[in-house]
Amino acid sequence: MNKDFALVVDFDGTLIDSSNYKQSLFLLAKDFGVALIKANLAYKKTTEKQPFTVGRFSKILFLKNIQKQKQFQAKAKLIFIEPKQYNFLGVEKFLNNLQKTYELYLLTYGEKSHQLMKLKQSQLANFFNSIIVTTQAGKHDKLAKLHEKWGKQIAVLDDSADVCNIAKSLGIKSFQIRKGLKDEAYYNKLRLRINNYFQ
Ligand SMILES: [Mg+2]
Repeated sequence: MNKDFALVVDFDGTLIDSSNYKQSLFLLAKDFGVALIKANLAYKKTTEKQPFTVGRFSKILFLKNIQKQKQFQAKAKLIFIEPKQYNFLGVEKFLNNLQKTYELYLLTYGEKSHQLMKLKQSQLANFFNSIIVTTQAGKHDKLAKLHEKWGKQIAVLDDSADVCNIAKSLGIKSFQIRKGLKDEAYYNKLRLRINNYFQ
């Protein structure tokens, strides 16, 4: 059945606690003898011009020590295994309710295989009609395309102010998700706000 309305939903920071898995990566770096401040700098450098990957992060951390890079990469894989580990509380219920009314698009910024690995861990993929990964931080082109298809019948859920502003400039309604931890009560209120908007 085709739905009348659609939502474009962000992944990192909106559905999963990305700062938590980043913390796990930094703790792992600590096990490898890397101080937190150095890990932070390496992370910044890794994500300066392009999306994050464990491979590039490990190369920046351990420069020419290829053996250490490989060991780090192997250990880092374990961070992304435990199912739903980084999901915010109540996020499954939130998406399960939304999918009854809305066509759901997941639109996530990042490197494809890295994002898909996290998505697999979250076990949230099945709530979505399509999964779109973009390497464009502001998501402009993908949003413009979705706007062409849905017009006024689409809205964006994203914790990035930049993405919300770009959505606005394209004429798309956006719900800016608050930063930090979310819970069931937060998602319930948000769902009511979205439903009110489309009523
Ligand atoms: Mg985000």
